[in-house]
Amino acid sequence: MTIRTLVWSENVHERTNAEVARLYPQGMHATIAAALNADPGIAAGTATLQDPEHGLTEARLAATDVLVWWGHAAHGEVADAVVERVVRAVWSGMGLIALHSAHFSKVFLRLMGTPCNLSWREAGERERVWVTAPHHPIAAGLPAFFELEHEEMYGEPFGVPEPLETVFVSWFQGGEVFRSGLTYRRGAGNIFYFRPGHETYPTYHDATVQQVLRNAVRWAANPAPRLADPQAAPNVPVEAAPERIEARGASLHAPGREGFR
Ligand code: ZN
Repeated sequence: MTIRTLVWSENVHERTNAEVARLYPQGMHATIAAALNADPGIAAGTATLQDPEHGLTEARLAATDVLVWWGHAAHGEVADAVVERVVRAVWSGMGLIALHSAHFSKVFLRLMGTPCNLSWREAGERERVWVTAPHHPIAAGLPAFFELEHEEMYGEPFGVPEPLETVFVSWFQGGEVFRSGLTYRRGAGNIFYFRPGHETYPTYHDATVQQVLRNAVRWAANPAPRLADPQAAPNVPVEAAPERIEARGASLHAPGREGFR
């Protein structure tokens, strides 16, 4: 079964910064999608902030098994209605891969529920990415560590919830460390945060990074049918209880009524 993947990018610095345009002439989303499509089991398309509804309509999300998200300068321009739509899709079972500065995207903040803050430095320093969970599918085929010669530094503490698993930890030339590969589950959706990918460096052209992205898409895809209503909170009548019971005491709700939200 082909994993239907959508690579979303804000596509801002590719059009406004000469160095980013040189590295990613078709946009970062195009480079990432091409890397994913090297896996015959993945069919990756793209969408950007500038598309109608940011390219993230209900129909597009319903036909997406895994959404890859890259954003940085324009988090605030993503419409709140689209954010809620994406969050519901994740709760329903769509996978999400949040890349680099997507730690401050509205979608990631909403799903984590924490500030997702970190320290940073833009100095083109070496990043050594250590595999801390060699058994994990996202680390399949990787060496014990790999290096990116030029990257932005992200430093701990990273203000995210404790993850299910920490797949990567990065060391930077300046001395800081950072949890670079983290897995979560929110509702029925698998989420992977992957740190590398500052837009002024050629990170998404790196063969090992591309392997991580393909592994992550395969891991995040949930083959189960999407939940129709991930926010359902049914009022179960007395007669439908698994064991026979009688109603006792006072009740705020008439039979069959919806609960408070
Ligand atoms: Zn960055």
